[in-house]
Amino acid sequence: MYEKEREELIQNLRVKGIKDESVLNAMLKVERHLFVPEAVRPHAYNDIALPIGYGQTISQPFTVAIMTEALNLKPNSKVLEIGTGSGYQAAILLEMGMKVYTIERNPDIYYRTQKLFDKLGLRILMKLGDGTIGWEEYAPFDGIIVTAGSPSIPEKLKKQLAVNGRMVIPVGGRSTQTMTILTKISDDKFRIEKIPHFAFVPLIGREGWKEE
Ligand code: SAM
Repeated sequence: MYEKEREELIQNLRVKGIKDESVLNAMLKVERHLFVPEAVRPHAYNDIALPIGYGQTISQPFTVAIMTEALNLKPNSKVLEIGTGSGYQAAILLEMGMKVYTIERNPDIYYRTQKLFDKLGLRILMKLGDGTIGWEEYAPFDGIIVTAGSPSIPEKLKKQLAVNGRMVIPVGGRSTQTMTILTKISDDKFRIEKIPHFAFVPLIGREGWKEE
């Protein structure tokens, strides 16, 4: 279902500058319409964020693509995602051959997505809790992707990143952020690159925003 729409979306992402074939291939295969509520399914292949309930969103496909491209990971890498949401981003990473660990703080979203992963047979390790403190038990990670906007880069996540690993995280105000890409050079040295103008829902937690 929706094959033609998916192909058009991939074409659109190429025009917008996404070059990594492994990312484009995964986005061609993973069926985004299965990760959104039925009411918004007809819009699943438009390049826009969509509501998934509980005041949360599934990110815009272009944002998923640019963040995944920025991670720059080889198959079999260990990736930690903060903010499971619909599960779409995690499914893209899994399709690319990664070992995926994901944390969600909202129990309703967590259980709903866990059910979906089971139904689709996706082997993704999930945890319910505050992702700003990471997942010590499985650290270090080759990649960390934070899919909610943070006021700063959580220290625990920096620690749990492997040397030569990359973290992609939107950092800034409560409503607009700069995509920040960190490469860990050594235990306390990072290279930082930035891409402006993103708008994520807030990362709520010990090292994130306070709940309003
Ligand atoms: N990656 C998701 C996807 O593919 O649908 C999109 C995530 S949505 C933009 C942000 C998610 O982050 C929400 O589900 C929200 O509940 C969650 N979140 C916010 N703060 C969090 C935290 N500290 N730890 C874990 N999840 C968090």
